[in-house]
Amino acid sequence: MAVNPPIFQIGAIQIVVLNDGIVHVDAGGPFGLTPRALYKNILMPDELNLIPMTLHSLLVRAAGKIILIDTGLGDKLNDKQRAVWALDQPGGGLIAELARQGVKPSQVDLVINTHLHADHCAGNTQFNADFTGIRPTFPNAEYVTQRREYNDATHPNERTRATYISLNYEPLVESGQMRLIDGDTEIVPGVLGVVMRGHTPAMMGIHFTDGHQHALFMSDLASYAIHFARLGWMTAYDVEPLETLESKRHWRQWALETNALLLFQHDPTLIAGRYVAESKIEPVTMITGA
Ligand SMILES: [Zn+2]
Repeated sequence: MAVNPPIFQIGAIQIVVLNDGIVHVDAGGPFGLTPRALYKNILMPDELNLIPMTLHSLLVRAAGKIILIDTGLGDKLNDKQRAVWALDQPGGGLIAELARQGVKPSQVDLVINTHLHADHCAGNTQFNADFTGIRPTFPNAEYVTQRREYNDATHPNERTRATYISLNYEPLVESGQMRLIDGDTEIVPGVLGVVMRGHTPAMMGIHFTDGHQHALFMSDLASYAIHFARLGWMTAYDVEPLETLESKRHWRQWALETNALLLFQHDPTLIAGRYVAESKIEPVTMITGA
């Protein structure tokens, strides 16, 4: 069943947190080397050792544009893939979530992919009506991601290739609809892509600001809030875990200094909060009004 999504306001920028669905993954993925005795107090695995991982996307209205940040798992999955992810879509998926906000796919101006793992960009594209080819889900949008991420995705190794699925991005680059950016970039005024090395070498967080207030969409720098609260807790998915550690150290200090609103992409219980002290994140439910 669909529920009203959290909405936050940073100056004139409106951020709506959408939910493409909930996948269930082995707890060893999100918690890596962290002992079960510690993480089970945060999130108790089920009898198959699975824990829920929410797929949040952001609908952002900024600088007169309708912007979508990450696109979830999309609708190209076959039955076997849906079973592997144990995907549950109580709200009907991202397109239904957008429709409830009054947004049609054709109205989206800009799609930003924080990185190209399948759970962040598979909704970029869909099969065309007779299943003979691929078309953009958002036909009038410009798509943006980091060039380094695209190069890593198109040249994967045995460790990284499972989650890089070329149909999610290669047709968009080949048609010229996806723009590749290099490093930290203000994509539209007040919406900045910032590279946070670790989960992948060129993963981006998204920094929203009106010059006074700040929000940060963490992507997989901290998949769950606890990953930001505890520097040493990292996911087994990170390809450069010691870089994740240093990136988190940097952005925790920034979050303290700016009192930024932090948005967590995969956390099923703590969607937004503020980092206030070592191991402590205070939840924030909603900020409305400029
Ligand atoms: Zn992810």
